[in-house]
Amino acid sequence: MNIFKNSAALQKWVLSKKRQGSKIALVPTMGYLHDGHLSLIKKAKTLKADEIIVSIFVNPTQFCPGEDFEKYPRDEKADLAKCRQAGATAVYIPSAKDVYEKDHSVYVDETRLSVGLCGARRPGHFRGVCTVVTKLFNISQADVAVFGRKDYQQAAIIKRMVRDMNFPVKIVVAPIVREKSGLAMSSRNTYLSEIEKENALEISRSLRLLKSKAIKFSHLTSRLKASGLKVDYIEAVNADTLEKVANPKKGDVVLIAAYSGKTRLIDNITL
Ligand code: AMP
Repeated sequence: MNIFKNSAALQKWVLSKKRQGSKIALVPTMGYLHDGHLSLIKKAKTLKADEIIVSIFVNPTQFCPGEDFEKYPRDEKADLAKCRQAGATAVYIPSAKDVYEKDHSVYVDETRLSVGLCGARRPGHFRGVCTVVTKLFNISQADVAVFGRKDYQQAAIIKRMVRDMNFPVKIVVAPIVREKSGLAMSSRNTYLSEIEKENALEISRSLRLLKSKAIKFSHLTSRLKASGLKVDYIEAVNADTLEKVANPKKGDVVLIAAYSGKTRLIDNITL
């Protein structure tokens, strides 16, 4: 497995691979890898890519002031071992200095799908995401990139960006990987105390009950509150346009963002 800390070196390597006809897959992550991330690498393997590049970069431009950029968990050694084990052929693990010039001044803004949901609560977040993903597509020259459905809005925005900016990249979205308890895996779960983790289970439990029609959409807020969670948003949207729907029906997506303690968690389900 090749390890690149430098974008120019990775791009040079990848261009020579492409001249030999290799198909390149990219799996962008912020590291502190768990089985959700590893499922994306495994998905990339099924896409018949010759090279699977995992990027590990805690991207400063997608964090808002006061968020957890400084304390975001990092474990380079364990991440590299997991990538190797899962079948990555290269890892790009740059420093912020390698990714952003001191006077970096070009950003990519999606202006429709990123208005609501997390975009409304985390101003500038998706601008940071679109900008870094654009850079990663250019550095990696990926033919295909795999994203997780856990970040539903992010995946929708990336697909839109690729469509509207004509990136020659196919976007594949992989299902949410959960703990046995139902909790959606996340690097941020490491922040949770036992009791906060227990409380957080209500998010996936409620979504499951909603899908099976055991509870109504209007019950979600009170259930989450009763479990000690602070609701950031609970919304039902059209699966493609992300436009809010008042009466969710089959095929719509219900998304939740809620705090357990100080940790902000997200999850979603298609009805
Ligand atoms: P992150 O490192 O949190 O930025 O996530 C990197 C990629 O992994 C994104 O495409 C996420 O949607 C995806 N991902 C994170 N958690 C999960 C999960 N539990 N199941 C599936 N994909 C995930």
